[in-house]
Amino acid sequence: MLKGISDVNIAWEMACVELKKKVSVQTFEHWFNPIVPVDFKDGKIVLGVSDDFFADWLLSNYEDILAEALSAAMGQETALELKLGYLPPESVQIKEECPEKLVNGGTTAAVPNAKSVVNAQAPNCLQRHTFANFVVGEENRYAYTAALTAGQSPGGVYNPLYIYGGTGLGKTHLLQAVAHEVLQHNPRARIEYTTCESFLNSYVDSLQQKKHGEFRGHFRNVDVLLIDDVHQLANKIQLQEEFFNTFNTLYNGNKQIILTSDKQPCEIHGLEERLVSRFEWGITTEITAPGLETRLAILRMKQQEHLIKLDDDVLFFLASNITSSIRRLEGALLRLVAFSSAMSNCKITVQKAEELLGKLIEEDASGKKISIDNILKSVADYFELRVHDLTGSRRPKNIVEPRMIAMYITRTLTAFSLPEIGMAFGGRNHATVIHAVKKVRSDCEKDENMRRTVSMLERQVQRGVS
Ligand code: ADP
Ligand code: MG
Repeated sequence: MLKGISDVNIAWEMACVELKKKVSVQTFEHWFNPIVPVDFKDGKIVLGVSDDFFADWLLSNYEDILAEALSAAMGQETALELKLGYLPPESVQIKEECPEKLVNGGTTAAVPNAKSVVNAQAPNCLQRHTFANFVVGEENRYAYTAALTAGQSPGGVYNPLYIYGGTGLGKTHLLQAVAHEVLQHNPRARIEYTTCESFLNSYVDSLQQKKHGEFRGHFRNVDVLLIDDVHQLANKIQLQEEFFNTFNTLYNGNKQIILTSDKQPCEIHGLEERLVSRFEWGITTEITAPGLETRLAILRMKQQEHLIKLDDDVLFFLASNITSSIRRLEGALLRLVAFSSAMSNCKITVQKAEELLGKLIEEDASGKKISIDNILKSVADYFELRVHDLTGSRRPKNIVEPRMIAMYITRTLTAFSLPEIGMAFGGRNHATVIHAVKKVRSDCEKDENMRRTVSMLERQVQRGVS
């Protein structure tokens, strides 16, 4: 029986031998190769994986296989613990070529060379979170441009940059992309990417270990500070004080600060006014739920990343049915990838996808049953109109604008097609809907009040169903 931390690599290698007997080469490469052995003692092995998504997927799909392989390798039942935040060593090396193309049911996916080459490692960041791997759509264009500009010229006009929006919409991806981008231009740049939660943990540890000076010195001496999920600062008075001082030091030294959150600064209850105002000093931009075209574009890119080529009707099926977040969309795609590789690249039809993803689609729909009726009601209530004013044919200005806003929100938050939206708005044609969407979008770009009103209504509609 193997014992002790030094044996963890051997223990994991032996388990891998067993695993390779049980799963296909692709499954092994995809799900087991990236695992980092961390510790092995007292009959328990600790394995490191990149993030919660990976851990969830591993446990829900391969927990039994993993347990069997561990027991077979170790000759006794072995407990398993997964730790997050571990990247496989090869993921931080220069990646110049994609592996072999993969065949799915006779259709060959031509996989282009990876566009992004990461030379220096951004600490705590996933290598795939680059700008090159980020699909730009109307919903995230401004956030993308601002983040890219900040990555290329840190401490410039977009400082601080504050990106907010719902979960799974790409905030962390953009934040980490900035880290990679900065390092491409300046491999010596000191970059700190951290979640607000780890910032808190490091702060508490530093107090406990009487190393507060070190903590302070570390965070106040970076060139780029990237803090994810700052809404978690809410009600943590001491941490806010610490953060306020760090912010001031960095800002005064022209260092780049980028923050993400699920809300606008002024909506975070329990955040001191002085922090709210600092967060709003620079650029505040929102990422909204991706529309159908963006979802399709994301799927097209992700299938290349995951070396699969699905038929267009399957992609359309996924994009139309999983609408709430890109994380879920990716999860759905990965389920199909895993199935295809486990079944020797069997062809995935819409029917098969429906069968494999039924539960996920149901969850997505129950989490986000945004109906056009809900949107009409919210918009009508807000502007003190009646629903049939919005769907009717009258055209006074006080009705036309809310009607266009309602069409825009329907287009942004639901998967209804343009003709379906036109129909729901009193039988208008699809060109009218396109015009409304464009007009509201450009008004939002020009007019802060319009942007706030639309965002507030969007969130209200989303909250109404969650
Ligand atoms: P958030 O931080 O907003 O909750 P993440 O940045 O973690 O969301 O994104 C969730 C997943 O979706 C990640 O795998 C990310 O790479 C992917 N993703 C989000 N937006 C995009 C995009 N525009 N293009 C490509 N992938 C995206
Ligand atoms: Mg995030």
